[in-house]
Amino acid sequence: MVGFMKTETPPNPARNAVGDVSWRVSIEGEHQVDEEQVPKTEQTSRSIESQKADLSAAAEQFDLAAPQDILRWAVEYYPTNLSLACSFGMQSVAIIDMLASMDILKSLEVYYLDTGVLFAETHQTRLRIQERYGFRAKRVAADLSWDEQKHKYGGLLYERGIEGVNECCHIRKVEPQRRYLVGKSGWITGMRRRQSANRANLPVAQWDEVNSLAKFNPFATLDDATIWGYIKANNVPFNPLYDQGYPSVGCNTPVCTRPVADGEDPRSGRWAGLSKTECGIHLDGNTIRSLDSSQL
Ligand code: SF4
Repeated sequence: MVGFMKTETPPNPARNAVGDVSWRVSIEGEHQVDEEQVPKTEQTSRSIESQKADLSAAAEQFDLAAPQDILRWAVEYYPTNLSLACSFGMQSVAIIDMLASMDILKSLEVYYLDTGVLFAETHQTRLRIQERYGFRAKRVAADLSWDEQKHKYGGLLYERGIEGVNECCHIRKVEPQRRYLVGKSGWITGMRRRQSANRANLPVAQWDEVNSLAKFNPFATLDDATIWGYIKANNVPFNPLYDQGYPSVGCNTPVCTRPVADGEDPRSGRWAGLSKTECGIHLDGNTIRSLDSSQL
């Protein structure tokens, strides 16, 4: 039996010298977790029903807790086969820094979806993050190379409207990730409630029915300012495209990611002119056959 451990603050004195921003992300209304009410972690195998019940209880107890508390609980409850979905976007790099600062980054596998058309700046950010935190992210990719896909479909799918874009995302993101998640115990994402209307009720912990494993969304309640505050205070490397008008960074094609002007909807830079705004991996896999990895 491994008991629940509340995050201690701050474990790394060097971080306090960065500024007056607390090591922990502060959330309006944040409450202290009642340890007696939180499901205790066990190293033994559990039934799916037992995991669902524990995740539901954890979601309730941690709803207004700091993300570090959620991350620690996830790693303790699932000590093996836990993964972090990483786009090397703002959410991902902040989560990696939190895991590293609690010395639990090595407890999980960081993976990224390489569509074959990521920005050079995204790869450079990956290399900087890997060097800073001392790990190597696992590359997850489609079986088809980009050229093989072009040959098979007679051109670029993303130039064929919403159906082509959805098919391309399905081939290059959704299917590779589904294959990767087989046998995993849980995955951590950077999803947030404010990103879209259908994420408004996103729990911080849940059972992923599509992939049949646990799913953690430790940043569900956070806003941009809080995450950027954490990144800047802790000097976390981030994708330079954020400073060049890209509030959301996905694939480097004229259709899939473009810069956004001041005052425009931050999401308008993704699949501009198409009705596609939401990733499909969080739904039932049939409604929308796509995954927006920038929101991982
Ligand atoms: S974001 Fe664009 S290029 Fe990337 S997988 Fe989806 S359609 Fe293809």
